[in-house]
Amino acid sequence: VVGLQHALIERLVHYYHVLVGFRANGDRSHFSTDEIGEAMNVDSSQVRKDMAKIDVAGRPRVGFEVDLVLSTIEKTLGFDCEYPAVIVGSGRLGGALASYRSFAAYGLRLVAAFDVDDRKIGKRIGKVTVQPLSDVGAVVQRDGVRLGVITVPAPSAQEVANLLTEAGVQALWNFAPARISVPEEVFVRDEHIAVGLGELAHHLKMRS
Ligand code: NAD
Repeated sequence: VVGLQHALIERLVHYYHVLVGFRANGDRSHFSTDEIGEAMNVDSSQVRKDMAKIDVAGRPRVGFEVDLVLSTIEKTLGFDCEYPAVIVGSGRLGGALASYRSFAAYGLRLVAAFDVDDRKIGKRIGKVTVQPLSDVGAVVQRDGVRLGVITVPAPSAQEVANLLTEAGVQALWNFAPARISVPEEVFVRDEHIAVGLGELAHHLKMRS
């Protein structure tokens, strides 16, 4: 299966956010490519091309239907599915992510969290109870876990990635500042707040 291009996925997620806002305001059932382009700072012709890529058509002078585009993006990106996920590393960041309520809005269902620290085992983070790392393989297989979130210190990231991929997860969301190697078929998303911080610093510098 060939996936969508990274840049297109990013724009679809942004459209989704803007349109959820339109729907929450409840004041419009349709939108124009100019409107959404302006809200997102992209060219309206780009919006039109993207709508064509996900096979939604607009109507002349009426525009695109908010609900239809939202449900099409949900289906295209898989937000309407339910992918079991686990967090490994139940410290400050793991705890914060476990409490993040919007996982489900993106098709992810957190089923368990793990740690090696005995003091953390049995504690609750978000809606799950922290379990010993030694159980991770069994839980991944039992619950058909598809995604592993890695929030352990960098030196442990590879070992955790190995455990998760050997047990069968298909994607890793890696927050540890470490490069991890995985089998070719496993998708890794490295997440780093530093990228955003670097961009902010650059903008502030341009102002000074
Ligand atoms: P923390 O010390 O609060 O939590 C780490 C947890 O991992 C601890 O509970 C520890 O017991 C556990 N752990 C250690 N080795 C383990 C293993 N092999 N298996 C399972 N659990 C294990 O640290 P934190 O502040 O939550 O940061 C966690 C990771 O996230 C670090 O690598 C940190 O650099 C990274 N981080 C990344 C970002 C980002 O933007 N991507 C932001 C903050 C932190």
